[in-house]
Amino acid sequence: MTHTLEYSANVSPPKAKHLLSRICKDCLPTRTRLRNHFVQCQEECPLCSQVPEEEWHLLVECEGSREAWSVMGLEQILTPRLQSCNNIQELIFDICCRESKEVAGKMALLMWVLWQNRNNFVWHETRISARQAGLQAMSMWEDWIQVNGQVVTTNKAGQQQHVAHVNEQQQPPRYSYLKCNVDASFLGTTNATGSGWCFRDNQGRFLLAGSNVILGRLNTIEGEAVAMKEAISEAIQRGFTHVIFESDSQILIDAISSRQQGYSTFSPLISNIRSLLSLVPNFELFD
Ligand SMILES: [Zn+2]
Repeated sequence: MTHTLEYSANVSPPKAKHLLSRICKDCLPTRTRLRNHFVQCQEECPLCSQVPEEEWHLLVECEGSREAWSVMGLEQILTPRLQSCNNIQELIFDICCRESKEVAGKMALLMWVLWQNRNNFVWHETRISARQAGLQAMSMWEDWIQVNGQVVTTNKAGQQQHVAHVNEQQQPPRYSYLKCNVDASFLGTTNATGSGWCFRDNQGRFLLAGSNVILGRLNTIEGEAVAMKEAISEAIQRGFTHVIFESDSQILIDAISSRQQGYSTFSPLISNIRSLLSLVPNFELFD
C-alpha cells in the first residue's frame, strides 16, 4: 500500500497523503475504532447521529459526502466503486492503482477536508456543508498543485505532459508538544484508587485536567496504567496530535515500551495502551 500511496505524493499535500496512510493502516481514530480499543465514547457518527462512525460511512455515505465528491469532480470515479469495493481501503487502493495521479491527489485532499470537517464539529461544534467541503478541497488542491506539484498540461495533440516540479522538498511543519502528567492516588484506607491527568501547553500553561475513582484497591503500577490509558483516550478524543505523557512509574513506561508480553494482571491494560498509541504516531512516553 505504501507504494500505491506514492501515486498521490506530488499531487496532494503531505497531510493528505498522511491521512490516506492512516486510513490504510487502520489507524484513524473513528468512534467505532476507539470503542474497539476500549475507549468509552459515543458510537454514532457525530455529523448525522444515524449509524456507528467508521471511515466508509464518514467519507462516502454520510449526509452530503457524496455531494462533496461530486463538487470535486470525482463522482464518476466513485459511483462504479460503490458496488465493487467492500471497504475504504479497497476504494483507496483501487483509485490509486487505476486512476491518474491527479485523481488520486484530489481524492486524498477531499478525504482530508471531510475528516477535518468532522473534527471541527467534534471539537469546536463548527462545520461546513458538503458543497463547501468539496469547493474547499478543490481550491486547496489547485493552490497546492500550482505551487508545489507536478503540473499536468495537455498539448495540442491531446497528450498529457508533466511539465514542472517545484519545491517538492517540503519542510516538515513544526509542532509544539503538549505535556501530560498522569498519576494514581490511593485514597487512605478506602477500597478505592484515584487516577488523574493534567495537560499543559509547551509554555507550561494549564489546559485541562481530569480525575476518576476506581472502586477496588489497585497496586501502584495498575493505578498508573489506568491513569495513563484515560489520559491517552482523552487526548485522542480531543484531537491532540503531539503529546508527551509523563508518569512517575518507570516500570509502567518500560512495560508499555517493551515488546515483551508480561504475565501480570495488568498486561491486558498495557496491551490496550499500546493499541491506543498505535493510532497516534506522535504521542510519546517518559518517566
Ligand atoms: Zn454520518
